[in-house]
Amino acid sequence: MFYCSGEDLQKTRGLGGVLIHPSGIFGEDYLTARSLDQQCADRIHLDGIGFPVILGSRTSPPDRYEVLARSEREKYWVASEGKAVETNIDPISASFLELSLYREVIARELRGNSGDGGELDQNNREPLVDAQARFLGSLMERCGCTASSEPKWPGGHRFAVCLTHDIDQITARTALNWYQFDMKRRGGRRVMASIPSMLPRFVRALLRFRSPFWTFDKIRSIEKGKGVRSSFFFIPFRDGSSEHDYGIAESKKVQGEARDLSRGGWEVGLHTVGDARIDGEARAMSSLGLTTHSVRYHRLKFRAPESWERIEEAGLLSDCSVGYNGRAGFRAGTCFPFMLFDPVAGREVPVMEVPLSLMDSSFYWYQEVSPEKLFGTFRELLDVVEDHGGVLVILWHNNFFDDTLYREWADIYSRIIDMVKKRGAFIGTVSEVSDWWRNRMANNALELVGGGSEEMGRENGRGGFHASPRH
Ligand SMILES: [Zn+2]
Repeated sequence: MFYCSGEDLQKTRGLGGVLIHPSGIFGEDYLTARSLDQQCADRIHLDGIGFPVILGSRTSPPDRYEVLARSEREKYWVASEGKAVETNIDPISASFLELSLYREVIARELRGNSGDGGELDQNNREPLVDAQARFLGSLMERCGCTASSEPKWPGGHRFAVCLTHDIDQITARTALNWYQFDMKRRGGRRVMASIPSMLPRFVRALLRFRSPFWTFDKIRSIEKGKGVRSSFFFIPFRDGSSEHDYGIAESKKVQGEARDLSRGGWEVGLHTVGDARIDGEARAMSSLGLTTHSVRYHRLKFRAPESWERIEEAGLLSDCSVGYNGRAGFRAGTCFPFMLFDPVAGREVPVMEVPLSLMDSSFYWYQEVSPEKLFGTFRELLDVVEDHGGVLVILWHNNFFDDTLYREWADIYSRIIDMVKKRGAFIGTVSEVSDWWRNRMANNALELVGGGSEEMGRENGRGGFHASPRH
């Protein structure tokens, strides 16, 4: 595969293989809003399969080549001659754009913090990067290369699901506040009607000195019963915010729970409240004897790319925060784990992202729809992830297992696990998924030779990338 322009392109043409014309995103406008003018929302159909076109160049196909397909808006093409295939669609820059959260980085420079960046993507239910990889695969197939279709997950499983829980609020006092809030929000009707069943449960919970939000036993019993394990993210310190009502470093009871979970095969991760604290929080977790490898930002309030460096400094190996607060979907355009990349410093950060795609509160708070509706979205996403062979990361907060306030949500969670098991997915914690993927990458890495530099170009007698499997 070759990725080059100008003179190198002329030299490479005719050598066979796939030749991609690079977009100009890495040119002088790199990291400015102007570079985004090159984006397009086009589509091209090749052998009956539609692929999204995100970036490309404005070049024309070579004269003697046969044009195999043109994009819907006609600007982009795939052409071939014999076993040589050429295109002005650039799936490599496009994947970089998505995986580095490039648009969010630029939007924040322009307008301050962009929140969760969700408003920047229209097409978030289709993993755009994975579609670019497929496009590339189909071009390579035309040149006689076949992509491996081997299962990518432990035990020969064809796709994976990762179950996670953020533990924000656990006390009876907070639960009662939410009950009151819920009553007001719904005009009292639903809760009034459910008082006869709700009140005894609430009192029973208090008599056992258990808050209705203390749902660890319930989660454990659901998951243990189904033979699966998940990741629990704990807040290290109380900081006066009403968004979390405990700190694991300050509560022996929560520490005991976390240790039990850890002994039982569940993962204990760090739920950080922000970049400024993450280092101290990670240290606090290890001083409690809780080995923590994974992190999730509370309310997904990370900042790309600054947060990547903070995670690295704190010695954590994987992050699970790249998802949307308000909706389901693929914020980084992929359903695969990937190494985080800092587009400003131009370097890969040694932290594996296991991107989040579906969470309870997006439906309950942001969209205010029923858990049944979430189940429909879950099935849609599961189909996509199974089709690509990736991983679907699901977040269920501990309070959503309180069936007084969040009726049916625990049942939907159980049904999700049942369906995932029936469909034959590998189910693992964030650490398991991240470690497996790290090893897999180390063993299957593609070596990029050439890189388009003058020196390497001379060495190979040609410019551009040449990909070959490392043995
Ligand atoms: Zn949280």
